[in-house]
Amino acid sequence: MTTRVYQRVKKILVIAIVLLASNFAHAQGLIELQQAEVEKLTKNTDLLRQLYSEGLIARIELEKSEQELTAAKARIEETTKAQELATKAQVLAKTKTLVKPTLVPLSKTATVMRSTAGTFGLANLAPIQQFFSQTFGKRLPTSTIGQSATHNRMGWDHRNAVDVGLHPDSAEGRALIAYLQNSGIPFLAFRGAIPGVSTGPHIHIGNPSHRL
Ligand SMILES: [Zn+2]
Repeated sequence: MTTRVYQRVKKILVIAIVLLASNFAHAQGLIELQQAEVEKLTKNTDLLRQLYSEGLIARIELEKSEQELTAAKARIEETTKAQELATKAQVLAKTKTLVKPTLVPLSKTATVMRSTAGTFGLANLAPIQQFFSQTFGKRLPTSTIGQSATHNRMGWDHRNAVDVGLHPDSAEGRALIAYLQNSGIPFLAFRGAIPGVSTGPHIHIGNPSHRL
């Protein structure tokens, strides 16, 4: 019994890790597949129960189908538990970053300030936009989200980066930079134009672009 409980917990943990790693991309599809399976097995079991009551099949065939149905229902329960666990882990991870920010001192005069700690993907843009609109009552002024024609022309890989039209020394710019630092999101903040790299002051969220 203990071994079975252990195996079940291990299975739930593995699913939770996969969900976390994929940013929950698979959760809905997985549950839908499992629900379809339960539906199919329920119909099958009902049919077999009918046939058994009419004496057309052996009891063992009905029991086998019932066991499969029970197992399929258990899988949905496991996925749901894993989803709950993964959500909790995500919330915990966020709380931890907020409590213990690792602030890198930034230059007050350099044309470019950079912070390369952490990771950023376009999927992480929504919480930043939410922070900004809640703080300043207006939308985050993004000028480019992901790859653009301008970046193609300049030969920069900008697929996982976002440009924001804010001066790093403005109140809004400073708040955004503090938020990015607290959240462990990499960025480059430009105080001015750099030929071939930056057309003017802005904040680039994401790792530095590299040549395509
Ligand atoms: Zn950029």
